[in-house]
Amino acid sequence: MHTSTNLASVRSSTLSHWMKVALQKGKQGVQRGERPFGAAIYRLTGEEVAVTCNTVFSTNNPAAHAEVNAITQACQSLGKTKLSDCWLLATAEPCPMCLSTAALAGIRFIAFGATQAVVKEAGYGDLGLTGREFAKQLTTDLILQGPVLGNECVSFLLNNRKRDQLG
Ligand SMILES: [Zn+2]
Repeated sequence: MHTSTNLASVRSSTLSHWMKVALQKGKQGVQRGERPFGAAIYRLTGEEVAVTCNTVFSTNNPAAHAEVNAITQACQSLGKTKLSDCWLLATAEPCPMCLSTAALAGIRFIAFGATQAVVKEAGYGDLGLTGREFAKQLTTDLILQGPVLGNECVSFLLNNRKRDQLG
């Protein structure tokens, strides 16, 4: 078992590398007409467990955010419902739904790229509460770290602003 302390001590260069993988996946999603969000789940050991993008349009599922997809895929891949030995990487600050899902999965460490302010600036869903604000309301001790690979993640969002009113 890895302790929380060990989990938290992942090098920033490692987090940047993991974020780059999530970002690449988000870019693939955009090429398929999805929203510009990517996510990844890594074990402290460096094992890649899941890399996903937003699939709201292709699945007609408003809950199919990149982070929820990553958590679902990771749990199914590992055959368990707890991911307490994992980091969640998200190219943008997770919304309250994604943070709740992460908390339910026992994830404590989350790294994000762009802040919620940039998400809003790009025209995407604003539930009126940032991930960091929401995390403070949870009894679970979530640690949000960011920005990681901030410039790249901000550019990705702003270069793929919401152009439609599809939801
Ligand atoms: Zn979300």
